[in-house]
Amino acid sequence: MATVKIFALILVWGGYLGFMLPHQSEQKLEHITKSDEEWKSLLTAEQFYITRKKGTEPPFSGAYHNHHEKGVYTCVGCGLELFSSKAKFESGTGWPSYWTPINKKHIREERDVSLGMVRVEVLCARCDAHLGHVFDDGPKPTGLRYCINSAALKFVKQP
Ligand code: FE
Repeated sequence: MATVKIFALILVWGGYLGFMLPHQSEQKLEHITKSDEEWKSLLTAEQFYITRKKGTEPPFSGAYHNHHEKGVYTCVGCGLELFSSKAKFESGTGWPSYWTPINKKHIREERDVSLGMVRVEVLCARCDAHLGHVFDDGPKPTGLRYCINSAALKFVKQP
């Protein structure tokens, strides 16, 4: 009887593993929520203003508009991988610009009608950090221009 039970357990566990393993890369992002006070203690005043209060850094002022190292630009709030140096291009705008995110599921887009303009806001899908905006005047292959604040990003160098 015990043998049958163990055999059944192995079958169930094996089925569970077989189900879980292919889904690991497709894991749903665990949403991160913090109070303004918590974010203030984790971010610089500029990072807080831009990511939590939807601010914009002055053009040509940030760390990454003229940055050309190989690597990944992660969310300054939660570390989620957002943009690759491979998709970075010279937009001439003074903000780091990319033609695609690393993964569409890592960003969230929202209609933004502030400042008398209709734009599409780009946010971190995990911690809701305001990143910047996306426009449809980018280069091939997507034709998109993700115009992102340097202060919303943290660069991680890769070989
Ligand atoms: Fe984030």
